[in-house]
This record gives sequence, structure tokens and C-alpha cells, in this order.
Amino acid sequence: MPDCHVIETQLKPYAAYSSSSKGRRYFESDLCPTWKEELFIGDIGNYSFGSLFQHDRDRIVHCEAFRRLEYKTQVFLNDQGDLFRTRLTHSLEVAQIARSLSRNLGLNEDLAEAISLAHDLGHTPFGHAGQDALNQCMQDYGGFEHNLHGLRIVDELEERYPQFNGLNLTFETREGILKHCQFKDALMLGEVGERFIKNTQPSLEAQIANFADEIAYSCHDIEDGLRAGFLTLDQLKTVEIWSYYDAIARTRFPFCSLKRHIYEVVQMITNALIADLTVFTASRLSILKINNIEDVRLSQPIVSYSTLMLPQIVELKKFLKKNLYTHFKVIRIANKLKKIITRLFDAFMEDNRLLPSKYQSKVSDQEQARLISYYIAGMTDRYAIKEYKRVFCIEEIF
Ligand code: MG
Repeated sequence: MPDCHVIETQLKPYAAYSSSSKGRRYFESDLCPTWKEELFIGDIGNYSFGSLFQHDRDRIVHCEAFRRLEYKTQVFLNDQGDLFRTRLTHSLEVAQIARSLSRNLGLNEDLAEAISLAHDLGHTPFGHAGQDALNQCMQDYGGFEHNLHGLRIVDELEERYPQFNGLNLTFETREGILKHCQFKDALMLGEVGERFIKNTQPSLEAQIANFADEIAYSCHDIEDGLRAGFLTLDQLKTVEIWSYYDAIARTRFPFCSLKRHIYEVVQMITNALIADLTVFTASRLSILKINNIEDVRLSQPIVSYSTLMLPQIVELKKFLKKNLYTHFKVIRIANKLKKIITRLFDAFMEDNRLLPSKYQSKVSDQEQARLISYYIAGMTDRYAIKEYKRVFCIEEIF
């Protein structure tokens, strides 16, 4: 039997070990011997066929919800420009940053990567506008929360394997996907919901993935905001972290084109955030005497920026909220997109024969609303727009 966990000898003791995983929801026999029989190959010797977390990563990359991320909005609609981030490219950037942070700290890169790639699987079309609209539609039926829906997708909704619903991911990847959760929902989720009841912490890899998400969107939204013309360099100079690295880049590369200069400053900010998180988190691991993953779970949140860096990232996020996420052009688009979600939801609730049969319920309004929320949440931006036309526009019949 090859050792699938051989790479774990390089991890720090407080990392999440695939070999000590709490396992999957449904039992699966070891993959390697099965492959041997099914693929008619001979002696597999000492080759490793990957750890549990590597298999999680593979299952996520191959699932339908992951491919849908290509056509789901991050901030800008997919058809507003080919160079704007989508949920897919955002997730890839998060995974890259999470892998870097994990490697710096001796954590399990495979787990951090799997969580990062899956962290936005539950998002509706049209970004936060879509989430807000669907949540509003679902107010009388328990609400809609994309994080919980992400877990639902990997636990139940993906139809890919003959033996089980969902992707049957490990506990550690599932707990990382469930970044936050309301108490009432946590009570229904079994072991993966327990930390929201007992107030314990997830693995360091899950904590890292959250910060990688924040670093990725804070930095790439600067670039996309400038590209769209919604942000200006003069505005950005009021942000301390931008003006600091802007000055360094101008001194170091005085004849650089504006395009390269912007990329350089954003890269410097990204690197500074990663370096600060690495050094400060390492010192906290030492001060808190964290020796294993159980210490991690019973401790306070460990991954953190230094007290010097924290106000910088807070200022940057406030700046983006004020100048980009609530820019009047972004709000105008969001307002229109919310109406698409709301009108579709209402029309389906009013007459469920408008729905594909798979999503029609004969049980109750509650059950019907739940199925409609799954249908709408699964749509890409362009599918939702097309569906809107099919339901409401006489020209678009099929
Ligand atoms: Mg994200």
C-alpha cells in the first residue's frame, strides 16, 4: 500500500494532517487498490495516489458548481469586460495566496487549496446583489445564505458519483467551506456545525483561506476598479497602504508605464499582507503554545495581521466599500440585477409549472421556495438573464 501521506512529514505539528482526518460522510474503501483492479494495472509499488485533501481538491475542480464560477459575477458583470475578475479567477487567486501562506507556516497546502477553490461555490448569480435579493425573497422561508449553500452543494446537490450525493469531501474541507453559520442552522448540521455552538475554531488552513479571500479581493478590486474607471489614482492616494507602496514603486521604477506601475503597487501590497500575516501568525502560534490541531480548535482565532497592518487593511476595505462597491454605477447595475432574481422567484412561486419538473414541489410553499432558491442560486449570470427573458419576454420562447 503506497503512503498517500508521505509529504506530510514536512508539515508543522499544528497543521491539519490528511492521515488524521476526521474522514468523509460516507465510507469509501482505499482508492489505490480499487484503481489497481479497475484499471488492470500491475504492481503499483510505492507510488502515492494523493492524500485525502488532494482528492477533495480534485473533486471540487471537476464538479459542475466549480465550472459555473466562470460566469458568475465577482463585482463586475461577466460581459462588462474580459479582464475583470470572475468568481472563478477570484477563487484561483485565493487558492494561490492560501497555498503561499500555508507553505510559509508549514501548514497543509492541499487542504488550504481545496477550501479556497470551494469557498464561493454557493454564490448566486450577480454577486452580493444576487445573494441579497434571494435572501430577501426567502425571508418567510428561512432566508438564503451562500456559505451554507456552498456546503449544501458539496454535501448533497452535486450529482457525480454513483455511491453518494454530493462530493463526499472530508470533514476538514467541509468545515473550511462553512465560514460562518447562524446558530439555528448550526444545530441541523451535525459535527460540522458544532464549532458555531461550542465557539471553537476551525483548522489553521481554514483560517488562512479566509484571509486569503480578503487579500485577493481587496487587491484585485483595486485593479478592476481602476480598469472600470470607478476608482482614480488620486482617490487611492488618500489610502495609507496605497500611498506608501506607490511612493516606493515610483522611486524604484521612475520610468515605468502607468499600467505596470499599478500592477507593481498592487503586488507590493499583496506581498506585504502575506508577509505580515505569516510573521504575526507564527509569533502567535509560539506565544499561545499551539502544538497540534486540537490546540488550534480550542484556542481563540489564531491567524491575524499585526497591530500595525490591521488598520491599513481596514482602511483599504472601507475605501473600497465607499468608492467602489457603492459607486452609483455599481448600485444601478445591482438594482437591475436584483429585480431579475426577485421577479423570477415570484413568478416561480406563483405558478410552479414555469419551473423545470425537477424543481416543482407538490408538498408545500416552504418546500417549493427551497427548491426555487436552489434553482436560482445555481444559475450563472448569463443563464439568469436568459431565463428572465424566457419567462417574461414574448420574443424569447425557448
Ligand atoms: Mg471570495
